[in-house]
Amino acid sequence: MIERARQLDAGDPLAEYRERFDVPEGVIYLDGNSLGCLPRATPARLEEVVREEWGRDLIRSWNTAGWIDLPAKVGGKIAPLIGAKPHEVIVADSVSVNLFKLISAALAMRPGRKVVLSEPGNFPTDIYMIEGLEKQGLAERRLSERGKLLEALDEDVALLLLTHAHYKTGELFDMGALTRAAHEAGALVLWDLSHSGGALPVDLNACEADFAVGCGYKYLNGGPGAPAYAFVAERHLADTQQPLSGWMGHAKPFAFSDDYTPAPGIERLLCGTPGILGLSALEVGVDIIAEIGVERLYAKSQKLSEFFRQCLSESGVELELVSPTDPASRGSQLSFRHAEAYAICQALIARGVIGDFRDPDILRFGFAPAYLRFEDMAEAARHLVEVLENGEWQREEFRQRAAVT
Ligand SMILES: *Cc1c(COP(=O)(O)O)cnc(C)c1O
Repeated sequence: MIERARQLDAGDPLAEYRERFDVPEGVIYLDGNSLGCLPRATPARLEEVVREEWGRDLIRSWNTAGWIDLPAKVGGKIAPLIGAKPHEVIVADSVSVNLFKLISAALAMRPGRKVVLSEPGNFPTDIYMIEGLEKQGLAERRLSERGKLLEALDEDVALLLLTHAHYKTGELFDMGALTRAAHEAGALVLWDLSHSGGALPVDLNACEADFAVGCGYKYLNGGPGAPAYAFVAERHLADTQQPLSGWMGHAKPFAFSDDYTPAPGIERLLCGTPGILGLSALEVGVDIIAEIGVERLYAKSQKLSEFFRQCLSESGVELELVSPTDPASRGSQLSFRHAEAYAICQALIARGVIGDFRDPDILRFGFAPAYLRFEDMAEAARHLVEVLENGEWQREEFRQRAAVT
């Protein structure tokens, strides 16, 4: 398979972009869906922001280096990746905090309705944020299995909150159909794009989505704990009242008024002072992804994951795939179920093949197409087959659970 892989790499139009990332020697990185690789341009950009903009120009940089506009500027660069207009997206806080703001805003826009509908097994923070609002008496949590969501959309539902590409299985929701169904039931929709933004084409406005949030440190390569982004459809901007009424979301933060007046546009989603270092690093990652384009990225990731499956099946190893078999129905990942998934994952990491484990029995491989080669697929599959066949995963050292899996 290695020969075939090299041929595919030779014909890969995105091959040159690997050079834009600092992929460590001897590592096959299949976890770009959890923490994207370091772009080579990021350290120099951070050095410049730290030494010149902060160190030399100090507080003047809020104006001279455009720090104050950075959340909207980077948001505007993310917008075309998710089918939004530039003034509908802002970078701020974490995904969790943005979920809180937008769930609250949606509830306020649907007086008389309190139910926030989601699915069991959605990413934990999404469910916990609903729960937090429920404890304050503001929301009522309703979880309904994928196949039964349409039935659960009744006249009590204020908001449908779903993750577009499931973090465990990669399965995609039909964004257009579910948004339409929610609207027909009088509800609003909030999409979590953490596993789709920057990985596959998303068209929020074509789907008439109301709200969305997404992650900066996964496919956007913004670095650990990079700030997240939030989207509000233009038609809702004036009515979106988010509860974290911090001074940076004020129409005139530097008027220092005693009364809160939200900014007229997407800036009203800001709360406190933005983290300029994090935003500056994120901008570098977003620029590369925007330059390549999500259509090309998704096309390659589908080819990579299909090639990986082919390598596995030709080796005769059978693993239970929990991701959809049709690459168009999944995000940029493949997940397999195995009772010993944790130990297998650790054994692979010891060989330099970094994927991840998701409790209780999922072995997850993400295919970030900007820096992965077909050769990596053939090699990763070979390592996985060896680990399974020689029982290497049974070693005691691979059973110790670390705090972060
Ligand atoms: C990674 C991820 C998050 C992360 O939330 P943070 O608050 O930024 O830690 C949220 N939702 C989904 C679906 C994710 O995959």
